[in-house]
Amino acid sequence: MRDARVLVVDDDEGVRQAAVAALADMGCSVREAADAAALRTALAEWEPHLVLLDAALPDGEGSQLLQELKGGNGTRDVAVIVLASRLPDELTELVLGLGAVDVMRKPFRPRELVARVQLQLRQAAVVRAAHDALRVAMDEVNRVQEDSENRRKLVDILHEVTGDLSSDEIYHILARRVARALSLSRCSVILARPGDQFGVVATAFDDPSLRNFEINLERYPEIRAALEHGHPVLVEDLHTSPLYEDLRQEWASNGTQVPIRSVIALPFTLGKVQAGVFFLRRMVDEPPLTNEDVEFADSVIKAAVAAIHRAKVIETTKADNARLEVLAHTDPLTQVLNRRALTVRLASELERARRYDSVLTLLMVDLDHFKKVNDTYGHLVGDEVLREVATMLQNEIRSVDVVARYGGEEFVVVLPETSLVGATTFAERIREHVAATPFAASMVESLRVTASVGVASYPSATVSTVDDLFARADEALYRAKADGRNRVCL
Ligand code: GH3
Ligand code: MG
Ligand code: MG
Repeated sequence: MRDARVLVVDDDEGVRQAAVAALADMGCSVREAADAAALRTALAEWEPHLVLLDAALPDGEGSQLLQELKGGNGTRDVAVIVLASRLPDELTELVLGLGAVDVMRKPFRPRELVARVQLQLRQAAVVRAAHDALRVAMDEVNRVQEDSENRRKLVDILHEVTGDLSSDEIYHILARRVARALSLSRCSVILARPGDQFGVVATAFDDPSLRNFEINLERYPEIRAALEHGHPVLVEDLHTSPLYEDLRQEWASNGTQVPIRSVIALPFTLGKVQAGVFFLRRMVDEPPLTNEDVEFADSVIKAAVAAIHRAKVIETTKADNARLEVLAHTDPLTQVLNRRALTVRLASELERARRYDSVLTLLMVDLDHFKKVNDTYGHLVGDEVLREVATMLQNEIRSVDVVARYGGEEFVVVLPETSLVGATTFAERIREHVAATPFAASMVESLRVTASVGVASYPSATVSTVDDLFARADEALYRAKADGRNRVCL
């Protein structure tokens, strides 16, 4: 009760003094008022928690004053104990009905007064605490309602962006949703890192043609500040903001009219790296952007950027997988299929030829005296020749055909649905082309090579499996070498 304030209102000084003396022992603050006017002043200025009110003051009836007090906005919660020399039942009923918490007869016994005042102060404190709690709860309810509104929007947005989308698409959706939620005519995503002089427009809700447009960040001090500090930057009015001081002078000197009024630059990170800003703008004829707008957009974007990050990881993983897949099948020097991939491919081609009663031919192409190329010009030149031969073979084939590097200077060409006769013609063309081409021309002068080709087809009397096909082609190649090289053998 130490900080309780009690006002004693009575025109009888003796009553006031007796009350003050009794209450002072309680340790609360006590003031006196001798009439209704003094009561009103004290109510307004001192805001007592409890009033001991004389039922009959010279300038006002207690019941009327009680009514006045209980009807007043700031005084409704003040506890009132009515004091009266006579306490007929009607008066007791009247004042309790009007909101007094208690009645006492004068003269009072001091200890009874203290006991009743203490009780009422305690109850008043409970009521006040309940009111405060209620107010806090209401504020909380309002905030939560707002929050849940925002959260609902957020959930909507996240639903939209958590699909199998590329980060580009997510940027676009986010810019559009933030723009819509905040009634913005302009919202874009600028990719840039702290200290960058240029940024790239990843998406622009207002103007899709700006995509991938490069912007000079010198003209966007809020973007630079946001990137540097990692906090959202709000410029309510760029026609007065100190951030735009220098640019305003420039606009004034070259007569530039700037139709933008407010901007928000909201930085976002991908992983731990500052990746860019969401850039929100309102025009001069629109209401300015506020801190609430910053908070909302920030919460939306923070959550959504996590989704972007995930999408990025997925994209990278997919790309990595695709790269690994390619690596696993490709010969690193010549970029044609490697031997392992050839084996797999040939098995399925042969299976298909078998199923559809079709034919298939395999060429084994081996460069002649290639050891000598290396010995004469070095391995780097040898490598370049191998690359160029592979490219030549790739250019000669149809899209259904396959070129693979079988070993060192040995290539295999698979020709589905091609008979021995057709394949031989093709092999002859390749042989001639190799012989007529200067290789590694950028590295050496007049380097010529020739190739020997062994040809085998499925089906034939001696070919029913992949191994048969390789064995027959290899035998044919051996014959071509033995017969003097630079030739095609069956
Ligand atoms: P032949 O006409 O009998 O085929 O003679 P050749 O010299 O081509 O045959 P051989 O099999 O004796 O030698 C193959 C040579 O190919 C040996 C090796 O130095 C070269 N070679 C194999 N792989 C590579 C490669 O990746 N890069 C380079 N530069 N040379 C390679
Ligand atoms: Mg060779
Ligand atoms: Mg060889």
